[in-house]
Amino acid sequence: MTGKTITRFPLAQYQPGITKTAMLLFLLSLAASAIAETGASSKEVDAVYPQAYDLYVDLHQNPELSAHETQTASKLAARLRNLGYDVTEHVGGTGVVAILRNGTGPTVMLRTELDALPVEEKTGLPYASRVHAKDDAGRDVPVMHACGHDLHMAALVGTASIMAHSRDTWHGTLMLIGQPAEETIGGAKEMIDDGLFTRFPKPSAGVALHVVNDLPAGQVGITPGIYNTNADSLRITIYGKGGHGSAPHTAIDPIVIAAKTILALQTIASREVKPEEMAVVTVGYIRAGTKNNIIPDQAEMGLTVRTRKAEVRKQILAAITRITKAEALAGGAPQEPLIEHVEGTNLVYNDPALAQRLRVTLQAALGKDNVITTEAITGSEDYSVFIEQGVPSLYFSLGGADPQKLAEARAAGTVLPSNHSSLFAPAVEPALRTGIAGEVAVLRNLLNGAAR
Ligand SMILES: [Zn+2]
Ligand SMILES: [Zn+2]
Repeated sequence: MTGKTITRFPLAQYQPGITKTAMLLFLLSLAASAIAETGASSKEVDAVYPQAYDLYVDLHQNPELSAHETQTASKLAARLRNLGYDVTEHVGGTGVVAILRNGTGPTVMLRTELDALPVEEKTGLPYASRVHAKDDAGRDVPVMHACGHDLHMAALVGTASIMAHSRDTWHGTLMLIGQPAEETIGGAKEMIDDGLFTRFPKPSAGVALHVVNDLPAGQVGITPGIYNTNADSLRITIYGKGGHGSAPHTAIDPIVIAAKTILALQTIASREVKPEEMAVVTVGYIRAGTKNNIIPDQAEMGLTVRTRKAEVRKQILAAITRITKAEALAGGAPQEPLIEHVEGTNLVYNDPALAQRLRVTLQAALGKDNVITTEAITGSEDYSVFIEQGVPSLYFSLGGADPQKLAEARAAGTVLPSNHSSLFAPAVEPALRTGIAGEVAVLRNLLNGAAR
């Protein structure tokens, strides 16, 4: 779990016993260096923007499902190689690692995801995806970059270009990674298992961002400490006894048992978990049956569980098992339900000292009003795997909402289409520009950057 082995980033540690004057001088020097640190100049961003935008459109039109990001990875690799990075492909499946060495100094990692989602795009954008692909179960599914990973990749390549063309502004080793299979929670671990931090240098700090729909484009959001949630995915199979729909007394209906189970599961968060604790239990799908007049043999359902505390996580998983077994027993099921834990990930913990340090950097680069403190979100992410390997990190939010539309939505008490929606359409301009400027500023700061 995160939280128990939090390594603090050395620079911003408070020194006990330091005199008030020394502290003041230290803060003043920090403020002065922050003012000098302007991140990427708008000229630098302008120079890389057209290519970054073209890449965005190309990736958006050609999305690939988790762990199948072969074209995506090779597009990224080719561009980074052209910029002079030492690029290794196929790290943990389709993962990409690009290293740029620039003298002595720390190693800093910037990560993007590569994958898209099985969602049918309905944005009506001229560059909307029309791609279909076979999923891992062999079904034909539409594919869309509905989480904005295309924007993350385009920003990373824009940033890579600026960093490669401004080596006098930083020193150390820049490590860019393209991680596969984030949406299915697995790509980060695959990369670690394939030697990400042994075959390549282990970073002393890591950075990632995610575009969001509830922050206006042009702004970024920082959440010190806990950023998101622990996630657990369960698959539950409830067994019954099939038969004719007209003779339910001769069968044991797994659909009715499943329906009762779903309702009973809703009492975990509302009746069992302490009211102040964060807890979500969602049944995302239920599959059973083929025809109106047939009682099927079994019903399957898929759950996601979100928590922030280890003990709450344990409590909920135990309650799900207890309730599911009890409902099957109550319904006379011929055998115990099968409860499988199919995937899970720990929450992302933003190193507070690093968050504070980089907040100053981002404020200097983007303007004070454009750096917002945001609340922890209920989503999840396998970036936590890198943090658990001992890489203190900042994972920050990139505003993606059209400011006008967001203001209207807020006034009307509604929300804009979120990540994973078929209507998710970030305001690429200026979000992409802000992403590049923010990443460059943060990397230069972490890589002992000087003002240009
Ligand atoms: Zn996503
Ligand atoms: Zn995402």
